[in-house]
Amino acid sequence: MIKIVQKPDWDEIVDKARAAFMGVALGDALGATTEFMTPREIQVQFGVHDRIIGKGWLYLKPGQVTDDTEMSVCIGRAIRLSKGWHLPAIADAFAGWMKSRPVDIGSTCARGIRNYIVHHSLEVPPSRWSAGNGALMRMVPVALYTLGDGDLLGRYAVEQAHLTHNNPLSDAACIFWGRLVHRAVMGATLNQLRLLADDFVAQHPVFGYQPYPGNSSAYVVDTVQTVFHFLFSSAGFEECLVRTVNQGGDADTTGALAGMLAGALYGGRGLPKQWVKRLDSRVHSEVSELAEYLVTHSPLSRPRENYRYYTAR
Ligand code: MN
Ligand code: MN
Repeated sequence: MIKIVQKPDWDEIVDKARAAFMGVALGDALGATTEFMTPREIQVQFGVHDRIIGKGWLYLKPGQVTDDTEMSVCIGRAIRLSKGWHLPAIADAFAGWMKSRPVDIGSTCARGIRNYIVHHSLEVPPSRWSAGNGALMRMVPVALYTLGDGDLLGRYAVEQAHLTHNNPLSDAACIFWGRLVHRAVMGATLNQLRLLADDFVAQHPVFGYQPYPGNSSAYVVDTVQTVFHFLFSSAGFEECLVRTVNQGGDADTTGALAGMLAGALYGGRGLPKQWVKRLDSRVHSEVSELAEYLVTHSPLSRPRENYRYYTAR
């Protein structure tokens, strides 16, 4: 039976959208400090790493973000600039960003962007080696811009992913992550997200995260397992992010992805004030503005479009 679920308050939706994008930046800035470290090394050096202090292998300034946030911002800017979804504009934004000598860039992303610059190709060939988390980490603008339309989410998620990563595991994770963001922004509870994740794992057993295998590498399966494990066993934004980045490995990216979901789930009041204050102020204002722009131009903002998506399961 189809039951229409009531649309939550619009201000609440915008708040959660903003917190999702801010969550990416905060998790990136927090986790970059412990990227490529082991949990044991983190423990010896920090006890518990829970402050935004920069440094790490990239020698960042406190509050500085990396490719995870920057590529997400590129997608958001390209949508705003083109007043719609225009894949070449996103590829151009990535190309411009790569030429600006970013502080960090993944090798699969760099290869994909070069493929666009040299061959004007908007899709890299399928590859079993592109099962990294580089397409997943930049999903927040796609999720916010497609709010209200699950089919559109599926299309745009894969289009943006294939600019650099053409792999079924990456595709599945990107689409599902967008779906989780949609549901969280629309007011789903942690438990409701967990049930969705259980369904996802039933369809894609490789992502099974219980018991947690403990790997937090950039392999998209490890990344998803890590974020699910900490998100579903934590009670709030700060706890979730601290535990995630103290697992080390690809900590800025697992941090960004945990921040995306926890931000969408707990909203602006869940974000620790000290972290928000520490975040690069230009990044802070740009991600807030982009988040608001994206949801106010999403299908959800247009009346009575695709309500089917919000029917109870
Ligand atoms: Mn990064
Ligand atoms: Mn990373």
